[in-house]
Amino acid sequence: ARASIIASAAGPGGTKDGHPVPLLANIGGPQDVEAAVANGAEGVGLYRTEFLFLDRATPPSAAEQEEAYRKVLEAFPKGKVVVRTLDAGADKPLAFLPPPGDEPNPALGERGLRMLRRHPEVLEAQLGALSRAAEGLTARLEVMAPMVTDAEEAAFFARACRDAGIAHPGVMIEVPAAALRARDLAAEVEFFSLGTNDLTQYACAADRQIGGLAHLQDPWRPAVLDLVALAAGAAAEAGRSCGVCGEAGGDPALACVLVGLGATSLSMSAPSLPLVRAALARHTFDQCREAAQAALGARTAQAAREAARALLPGLA
Ligand code: PEP
Ligand code: MG
Repeated sequence: ARASIIASAAGPGGTKDGHPVPLLANIGGPQDVEAAVANGAEGVGLYRTEFLFLDRATPPSAAEQEEAYRKVLEAFPKGKVVVRTLDAGADKPLAFLPPPGDEPNPALGERGLRMLRRHPEVLEAQLGALSRAAEGLTARLEVMAPMVTDAEEAAFFARACRDAGIAHPGVMIEVPAAALRARDLAAEVEFFSLGTNDLTQYACAADRQIGGLAHLQDPWRPAVLDLVALAAGAAAEAGRSCGVCGEAGGDPALACVLVGLGATSLSMSAPSLPLVRAALARHTFDQCREAAQAALGARTAQAAREAARALLPGLA
């Protein structure tokens, strides 16, 4: 019996009635692949490449980058690997890419794609290394940019990817402006990935690094759920996929709600995968949609949580 539990735990994710929801892992590099596989990840939904660049005065060489990316791609021969280009700045400062001047509000400053546009050689080197790393491998490589604000930035990134030989460019939706105009962005890229950590920070204008503001950094807030629904709806209309890679996807009840709002895959830290897998398997897609509607109809994060949970009886 134990063997079959382990085997079924490693099957593809989905709702009780068979609506597929690929369950992917958030990783920081090849060192995290083992835990992802052990917890049944079908692929990688967020490869945070900053870790390779931390604590050093110069960027890693092209060969060093290529090797790290290849190790991850090789681990998922039948899956997809979504790599995020460097998200430097704000909560992820990198010594060799300092902001241009004194930034009183780093979270609102030069970070993510903004930083890479000022250092095009860093973006080009990273995209080139990714493209070479994927050569001859069967994993599906998707590459996305962090901190994208509008369709012009999305178009810039898609062009940079295609110039480097990367066929599947996407953007993170973590700036409210991008969620509000998701339809415009969907015309430029193949997929979205919702970064609910930053989307919540920016929707609530509360720095995620300030512990005293943690009550505002709650992805159950109906305002955040509205933005998720907008982005997922725009993606569906354009025939694009829309995953979630923020911490929200690792909360079993919220995972069901996100699927009900239209998320097409969920990516999370590896230890969260089994609980989320079980929560989805115990509810139908309709139950997820009803829970999502109930959460959208609430006025506070706490009320949204309670309303959704009341409609998800299979939660542990
Ligand atoms: C996010 O913002 O939700 C996200 C997944 O990215 P990070 O936490 O690395 O900023
Ligand atoms: Mg983010």
